[in-house]
Amino acid sequence: MRTCMGCRESKPKQQMLRFVVDGEGVLWPDLMQKAPGRGIYHCMQEQCLRRMNDKRLQALKAKFSIVLPQWDDVLQRITSNLQQQLKRMLSRQRTTAAIGRDAVMHRLWNNAPLMLLRAVDAGDALVRQLDDGLEKRTQAGNKSLLLTVSSRHWLGEMFGRDDVAIVALDAAGSAAATVKKLQVYCVWYGCIKGVG
Ligand SMILES: [Zn+2]
Repeated sequence: MRTCMGCRESKPKQQMLRFVVDGEGVLWPDLMQKAPGRGIYHCMQEQCLRRMNDKRLQALKAKFSIVLPQWDDVLQRITSNLQQQLKRMLSRQRTTAAIGRDAVMHRLWNNAPLMLLRAVDAGDALVRQLDDGLEKRTQAGNKSLLLTVSSRHWLGEMFGRDDVAIVALDAAGSAAATVKKLQVYCVWYGCIKGVG
């Protein structure tokens, strides 16, 4: 358990974003939670992130020699680190993922658990078609997790294409842990975008 520097609530450390302070007093997000040095933790609730600012960061001055102001830059750093990490993780799925509507609709017939990433601008027709398909999967007792992500352009970038509205990832067996991590990072990314 770790305490959030914003709301002071204690949560399991996996649910929190870790930061370390470098020699110049700059706060760096440490997504892997492995960087040396004493960590500072922040929860990833949008409300809590919204309340954080440079004035509140001053409280850290007692223990860390951090430079101020820097909160806007910190948000930028989190966004770009998440973006990089998501890109790295998703590009590793490139060979096994179903990318695009036709491939995804076909994959829905597969009984194995799936995680679906749908762009927020996927379009009503695709959303309806997908909802139908997912309902049938649920009726058949197949697990699917649907996440809404940034945009078709963003999702395309993750897979080295111009434009991707929908992706289905294998969430079975050894892929389960990766998918869980992806889910966390996608939610965090959405949250940070909402704050910034
Ligand atoms: Zn918090």
